[in-house]
Amino acid sequence: MTESVVTRFAPSPTGYLHIGGARTALFNWLYAKGRGGKMLLRIEDTDRARSTDDAVLALKDGLSWLGIQWDGEPVSQYGNAERHRAVAEQMVKDGTAYYCYCTPEEVNAMREKARAENRPPRYDGTWRDRAPSEAPEGISPAIRLKAPLEGDTIIEDKVQGTVKFPNKDLDDLVLVRSDGNPTYMLAVVVDDHDMGVTHIVRGDDHLTNAARQALIYKALGWDLPVVSHIPLIYGPDGAKLSKRHGAIGAEAYRAMGYLPAAMRNYLARLGWSHGDDEIFSTDQMIEWFDFDAIGKSPSRFDFKKLENLNAHYMRSTPDSELLEAFKVYLPDVEGGVQVLEWLSNAQNEAKFLAALPGLKERAKTLVELQESARYLWVERPLDFDEKAEKLLSEDARAVLARLLPHFEAVTDWSGENTEAAVRAFAEQEELKLGKVAQPLRAALTGRGTSPGIFDVLEVLGKQESLARIGDCAK
Ligand code: GLU
Repeated sequence: MTESVVTRFAPSPTGYLHIGGARTALFNWLYAKGRGGKMLLRIEDTDRARSTDDAVLALKDGLSWLGIQWDGEPVSQYGNAERHRAVAEQMVKDGTAYYCYCTPEEVNAMREKARAENRPPRYDGTWRDRAPSEAPEGISPAIRLKAPLEGDTIIEDKVQGTVKFPNKDLDDLVLVRSDGNPTYMLAVVVDDHDMGVTHIVRGDDHLTNAARQALIYKALGWDLPVVSHIPLIYGPDGAKLSKRHGAIGAEAYRAMGYLPAAMRNYLARLGWSHGDDEIFSTDQMIEWFDFDAIGKSPSRFDFKKLENLNAHYMRSTPDSELLEAFKVYLPDVEGGVQVLEWLSNAQNEAKFLAALPGLKERAKTLVELQESARYLWVERPLDFDEKAEKLLSEDARAVLARLLPHFEAVTDWSGENTEAAVRAFAEQEELKLGKVAQPLRAALTGRGTSPGIFDVLEVLGKQESLARIGDCAK
């Protein structure tokens, strides 16, 4: 029987789901799902000040929005502190770790000395081999790993290949601090082991940690999971992606109107490839994802590419699904709550769905969709943008006044029939079509640019269209 795959995503709560973290989560999820395995979620919440309920919620929200579903209950690393301490105490008993009574000042002095002598700043082994009877009274000790002094630690990484770390550069690292708090290095190892993790996928900034953690695994007689350290995401300028590049949290991408499916597709392609394919369904990603097609160099975040991909998903998402995504997007954006309220009326929703096929062809994001569909929910009297004001000159208003009776005469109100009426009117008046259509656009939508004007007329219906035109006609 083959061992079933267990991966995990182990974010520290920062207040948002970092877009790089989102990709790490996605890779973990794709790998596990493709093999009938599980992806667990562990919140690395040992920094108590940052680990608020809101910060944890933001992580979960980000994952849920992206459609990345973890298995089981999230694990709290802080909640396992007792177990981490117990493991370290057992290691002391087994002789693979020891109590260290050095004060922070002594440890600092050691580091300074090593630095002055051009050696790597490591612990000098003061307490490594001393008898417990020498322990000073009244000082609570830290627990350190009795790390090998010679040889190499080799990491067989699925992305980075074979990486060698000379043990002399790896310290007798602290497992439990003198205040009783387990270190991150110990906590990760014990948690991954206890959670049954078989594959670790994380950013390559953790590669050196993998070597340190490998020493702890070895000391405990446990097997190191399969590790894959993926290159980080860089900004368009080639620097590590950070706040100064703009949006960094998943919720910001939601507010920018990107669809979860487009984000998944984009993030999957960021560092991973499948031939020349650019567009994949989630099922295809799950089927095809593997570590061997992850590149070794950092990927650059390309907003233009994301936007193009999103435009594709806007066009190809079925209307009912797009409506649902729009409803998820609305609550957090300006004016969104009012639109949501408007949509809660069944007639309005039907109007929106009638307009959607035309609108989604041109909207690259949900933000653009919100803007182009605006004419549906604005109420009379409309407000006009600068361009619309300009279009509604005295002459133009007079044109609209003369057009009105022609529209009133249209009995079967549709895009086609209103277009025929406008064309006949323009011909009769010897006007270019634009001279009629542009003021009409301004009067109906309040904007200088809008979706196709005959679509607008049809969706608004005769009564509302005539009323809006009437408001501007003179
Ligand atoms: N909490 C770590 C981070 O957010 C991840 C540690 C790990 O995946 O082992 O970078």
